[in-house]
Amino acid sequence: MLLVAGAATAASADGPQTRGDRPFASCPNGYVGLTYDDGPNPSSTYALLNALQAGGARATFFIWGQHAQQYPDLLRAEVSAGMWIGNHTWSHPHLTQIGEPNAYNEIAQTQNVIQQITGQTPTLFRPPYGETSAQVRSDAQRLGLTAEVLWNVDSQDWNGASTAQIVQAASRMQNGSIILMHDGGYQTTVAAVPQILSGLASRGLCPGRIVSGANMQPVVTAP
Ligand SMILES: [Zn+2]
Repeated sequence: MLLVAGAATAASADGPQTRGDRPFASCPNGYVGLTYDDGPNPSSTYALLNALQAGGARATFFIWGQHAQQYPDLLRAEVSAGMWIGNHTWSHPHLTQIGEPNAYNEIAQTQNVIQQITGQTPTLFRPPYGETSAQVRSDAQRLGLTAEVLWNVDSQDWNGASTAQIVQAASRMQNGSIILMHDGGYQTTVAAVPQILSGLASRGLCPGRIVSGANMQPVVTAP
């Protein structure tokens, strides 16, 4: 009787759901990290959030501090939509070339403005251009950032890639992959979202959450 009752409960919980309601309910082949850099941006943030939410996906937004200060409502909308927020410096400099305390301050001011606007202190850090050093990592760690998040798939959206090319790049993702895209006003990037999500679902992959692993390395897990 208990087994039957348990099975009936499970069936009634899952039965009414369709794939459309829960597109990523099953993730047999693991998780990937979708990342959008350089926003918030009034030309693309809301469109990206709408596309991601429509597809049942969450992503990580690596934001500029000065853009957060300029568009605080957009940053709050990202959080409200269930997105994760990472630190991408105040003004996107070449951190390894500007010296100290400039590099530290670029990261610190961004931590502060994100904390003020969202009430959250980021733990994820992405250095502009992927340019880093032991000094940059030390700065980030002192500020509570516990993962340095680079990428292993580059969508090339920043370099004029078409929507089809962005989708093609995303098709190379495997379990644990992190893809670089941009909240930079590119309509190509926005238009690619539905096809990226359907492609992942068809391959048994789900958009995941990026968390901190050993030695500031990122790990992609279930949301
Ligand atoms: Zn960037």
